[in-house]
Amino acid sequence: MPDANALRSAVRDVPDFPKPGIVFKDITPILGNGDLFQTSIRLLAETARGSHIDKVVGIDARGFIFAAAVADRLKAGFVPIRKKGKLPWKTREASYTLEYGEAAVEIHQDAVHPGEKILLVDDLLATGGTAAAAVRLLDQLKAEIVSVSFLIELAFLEGRQKLGEHEISSIISY
Ligand code: AMP
Repeated sequence: MPDANALRSAVRDVPDFPKPGIVFKDITPILGNGDLFQTSIRLLAETARGSHIDKVVGIDARGFIFAAAVADRLKAGFVPIRKKGKLPWKTREASYTLEYGEAAVEIHQDAVHPGEKILLVDDLLATGGTAAAAVRLLDQLKAEIVSVSFLIELAFLEGRQKLGEHEISSIISY
């Protein structure tokens, strides 16, 4: 079975995407390989460290790919946190700052109940703005976050400093 190093080797660096100066971490070579994809899901599921998980929460959009498969593995529910304007029911919203301007994410207000044990999953932690907004939503709903888990962490951007006291896990760190 492949390990985290095999995942790291498969991530493709794409310079200057989506704009000059950004090195985009392309995970599609992992998704497209059955052994590597299964390994990524197994390692993300292990970040729950054996704790019971009620719901795996995924962040729009690449986070959904991993979170849904992890939820299946943990026999947990799946909850999407989506970009503003996509969810049909009553929502809570958290905004965050981008390089230029602001963005917002939303969760259905009844998607998570107080005290539920949550694994929050996204593909990549960069500056941490997106994940911090997701954490704020879960904190407002009084969820118990077991871990905030990423396939990839760009550690040099120090995004984990925005995530407060929560347990943070990453499979591949740069
Ligand atoms: P941030 O809010 O800065 O932590 O950005 C995190 C979100 O942006 C994640 O959901 C990633 O999918 C995406 N992202 C940011 N930087 C990169 C990068 N260098 N390569 C791929 N995705 C990225």
